[in-house]
Amino acid sequence: MIVLKFGGTSVGDGQRILQVLEIARTRLAEAPLLVSSAMGKTTDLLLDIAARAVSGDLSGARELREQLEQAHQEALDVVLARLDPERQDYYREQQRELFRELAPLVQGLGLIRELSPRTSDALLSFGERLSTAIIRCGAEAMAIPATLLDSRTLIVTGNTFGSAQPDFTATTERIRTEVAPRAGHLLIAQGFIGATPEGITTTLGRGGSDYSATIFGMALAAERVEIWTDVNGIMTADPRIIPEARTIPELTYNEAAELSFFGARVVHPATMIPAVEKGIPVVVCNTFDPTGPATVIRDAVARKGLRAIAARAGVTIITVHSSRMLNAWGFLSRMFRIFDEHRVIVDLIATSEVSVSVSVDMPEPPAVLTAALQQLGSVRVDRNKAVMSLVGEGIWNDTQRIQQTFAALAPTENDASPIEVEMISLGSSDTNLSLVLPQDQMGRAMEQLHHRFFRFSLNGE
Ligand code: ADP
Ligand code: ASP
Ligand code: MG
Repeated sequence: MIVLKFGGTSVGDGQRILQVLEIARTRLAEAPLLVSSAMGKTTDLLLDIAARAVSGDLSGARELREQLEQAHQEALDVVLARLDPERQDYYREQQRELFRELAPLVQGLGLIRELSPRTSDALLSFGERLSTAIIRCGAEAMAIPATLLDSRTLIVTGNTFGSAQPDFTATTERIRTEVAPRAGHLLIAQGFIGATPEGITTTLGRGGSDYSATIFGMALAAERVEIWTDVNGIMTADPRIIPEARTIPELTYNEAAELSFFGARVVHPATMIPAVEKGIPVVVCNTFDPTGPATVIRDAVARKGLRAIAARAGVTIITVHSSRMLNAWGFLSRMFRIFDEHRVIVDLIATSEVSVSVSVDMPEPPAVLTAALQQLGSVRVDRNKAVMSLVGEGIWNDTQRIQQTFAALAPTENDASPIEVEMISLGSSDTNLSLVLPQDQMGRAMEQLHHRFFRFSLNGE
């Protein structure tokens, strides 16, 4: 069997859903399971609706809900055009029912004026439930034999709402008992959502449908997981920032995981975990260019060297300065305990004799965290930073790379100001070099580095 995952843009409207089903049709002999995201920006819109309801802007919330309903109705209208009237009524009623279920949730938020992570997950689940219902309808209209599954009965997770951890053992057992892929039949499931063992809806975190796809793939020992998105696979940089970026034909699991961790949001950072477990190849392809260049991710690849540049904005550096650090043991453990207690994840670390700087992936660290850190020494918070990472297995075997990296960041003819690198970290896995710099210099730094390393070759030589 194989898993096909389609992202939000791929299923953005009715026409695109029919296009996606044409792709699925070409895979029918391979016993496919289709995992879908919510349509377009539905998840953002649902969050917006919640925010308005909570702030008391009930008419604003209603307006957005109507907008959402209309977009889904229009998509459904396009896909069900070829069905007989009775089946059309059936699918229309099914969609209305989902919106009827959604309405009291939004009303409740307006009354309580608070959005708990648990309610947020319940609300967000409607995005994927709505899109997959339309895909199911489209399959019938295109005479593709299909079954719609409910991922909340299959993906078993913990109860950290908003970024729930899947229980691989329980999930695999459920999926193996309940799901039987077969040639000529299309299974359809929601990405992103799951439920606790008690059946309370959870989500795997933003962009989590990729993760859902490899979890299904692992449980069903898929021969391949295909991630269909809106670009030609994983590229040497985000093509929205660097238009010259090119498709990387092959990557290792490790490289793909590092790249997504360091900001290449084309796949969710946890996606490779289940794939590695069973050695399942993951192929990233473009829904809008199905025969164009794509990326294959697997255990080992022939080519070594620098593979891509990734970046993340909205980063903050927190520096704790203390003369008490001098010759004192236990300082770092006290400091990291404070980060643990406040559940803030530390990214990069740089230490000196009297200060420790860490980067955190958030535009504004919680005030309680900085207050607690003040027990250790004086605290400085530097906002609006970006982390830029060069990724590739074994790239630091080549000692010239660091020198070339800094040379590439030197002032150019067009722009005489130097790029201010404020922190540097050579990943202990020998797969990345990360630089922290001011956010407003990120685009230019990426351009200069991409030009230096990828103008002529695909592995940064
Ligand atoms: P989907 O909805 O299909 O899950 P996403 O928006 O989550 O799609 O991811 C695709 C986007 O990721 C692309 O449109 C692209 O702008 C961005 N992206 C960031 N880094 C890269 C990269 N290195 N290669 C390809 N795309 C990237
Ligand atoms: N719909 C969810 C999101 O927008 C999950 C996904 O698309 O992968 O984050
Ligand atoms: Mg995505």
